Amino acid sequence: MGIRWGNAVYGILALFAGGWIVAELSAHMPRLEAAATQSANSPQPLAQPWQGGSFPVENFSRYTSPFGYRTDPYSGQARFHYGLDIATPMGSYVRSWWQGTVARVSEDTACGTSVVVRSGDWVHVYCHLQGYVVVETDGDRVLVDRRGGIQLQQGRRVKAGTRIGRVGMTGRTTGPHLHWGLKYQGTWVDPAQVLQAMYANQRL
Ligand SMILES: [Zn+2]
Repeated sequence: MGIRWGNAVYGILALFAGGWIVAELSAHMPRLEAAATQSANSPQPLAQPWQGGSFPVENFSRYTSPFGYRTDPYSGQARFHYGLDIATPMGSYVRSWWQGTVARVSEDTACGTSVVVRSGDWVHVYCHLQGYVVVETDGDRVLVDRRGGIQLQQGRRVKAGTRIGRVGMTGRTTGPHLHWGLKYQGTWVDPAQVLQAMYANQRL
């Protein structure tokens, strides 16, 4: 799938060499696995629960801001950063981490043009994309990025790895990157931990 795990994981390991909670997250994975195996697209149960995931962006450059407290680049004050920032070349394609349903496309917050995908108990958020949101007469909301060939309708089913947008600079951002947020049962979790667990399973 064109995932440059070598670079991606080196950065993750550098950022998160300290203690973390993969074991705890992995304990939650059977529910995600169950959601995945209900799809007609994956008739076989996953040998490892994390194998069904996709790295969320093509053309990884580096991690620019981890999950946790940081100095806000705009206000200079300490703020919690509820996601992982992944720098990429402008226009790189963003991929859905997991199969699920597009719960929301929007463009009116600091997140910029953005996509929210729901996969069972998990919600994944992708910010600062290119394009804009069209609200059709029947109320359907569609993310449109013509140059990228993206037309993503709210309510659409996506697979892990489906291209759902391209990296841009909409919303509050100082450079092209994907802000990737992950929630489990309504609580933000560190996406780096999920990536590390996915990588660990890839090597098996
Ligand atoms: Zn961010």
